Amino acid sequence: MIIVMKPQASNENVSEISSLLKKLNLDVHISKGSETTIIGVIGDKRVLDDVPLVLMPGVQKIVPIMDSFKLASKTFKPEQSIVDVSGIEIGGDELVVIAGPCAVESREQLLNTANAVKASGAKLLRGGAYKPRTSPYSFQGLEEEALKYMAEARELTGLRIVTEVISEKSIETAYKYVDMFQIGARNMQNFYLLREVGKTQKPVLLKRGLSATIEEWLNAAEYIINEGNYNVILCERGIRTFETATRNTLDISSIPVIKTKTHLPILVDPSHAAGNWEYIIPLTRAVIAAGADGAIVEVHPNPKQALSDGPQSLTPKKFDELCDNVRKMAPLLDRRF
Ligand code: PEP
Ligand code: MN
Repeated sequence: MIIVMKPQASNENVSEISSLLKKLNLDVHISKGSETTIIGVIGDKRVLDDVPLVLMPGVQKIVPIMDSFKLASKTFKPEQSIVDVSGIEIGGDELVVIAGPCAVESREQLLNTANAVKASGAKLLRGGAYKPRTSPYSFQGLEEEALKYMAEARELTGLRIVTEVISEKSIETAYKYVDMFQIGARNMQNFYLLREVGKTQKPVLLKRGLSATIEEWLNAAEYIINEGNYNVILCERGIRTFETATRNTLDISSIPVIKTKTHLPILVDPSHAAGNWEYIIPLTRAVIAAGADGAIVEVHPNPKQALSDGPQSLTPKKFDELCDNVRKMAPLLDRRF
């Protein structure tokens, strides 16, 4: 449930209620909006049966949260969240494009890609250090060596960096290097991992599971937020359907659904959705038009030689064309790029 405070409620009113709830062993989450403060209450509400909360100073009303996810819901926080990734805002007016190779393969490959995508307009560099591959015989990633190259690319270009984490150990190692963690589609329901990234304050890019409903995806976000990390960005990356012409089916509907159900920002990954570089630009146009806060795409200096996901990787030249498209569209949508 949430406790909606009156617009004129004081900070003392809010802290009086918070301490009462905490004494009753309930979890308290506060969302301060421009008009009013909302107190989210998580836990066994039976302890409140005899507590006349509604009569406490500053309280306007008590409202149950109908969704299965609570802190991710718009009831708890009606205003859009903006996640700050080391100074880059995701979810605000500016569209954000993240680009880079599926996997970091070498220093040269990464630095070449970083310089190119930066020049075209990317704000963050992606690059896999730990690769959760479908086959155990496929390239598994350079691990910490890759993170060192990523950090060097950050130093040289100013691009913020994001990498996928797959275990507690990889979180510990990547923590020192990256600006944002990625939780991959295959780990979206690895609740232990979600709790671990939730214990940090680093932004988390949470990919939608291959066969996850939007509700399951938002509950995965809830696991992270419930640990105290509100810096969650959702990432639609296509789901499994009967269609085989594309690697997955990009669920464009998820964008307006997400915008009505949650305050969290949403990026879209057309690369993993389509599995084919030829579809990336039109799909990016579509998701930006549908209201996504940006996109994350795979770029490789030589896609034919890529150790993973070459067929869906854009050349730097094609990526430049993608950014031109986003730049032209942004003003029509009251956004910047
Ligand atoms: C990736 O981003 O490289 C990746 C493996 O994506 P997903 O988890 O969406 O399959
Ligand atoms: Mn990939």
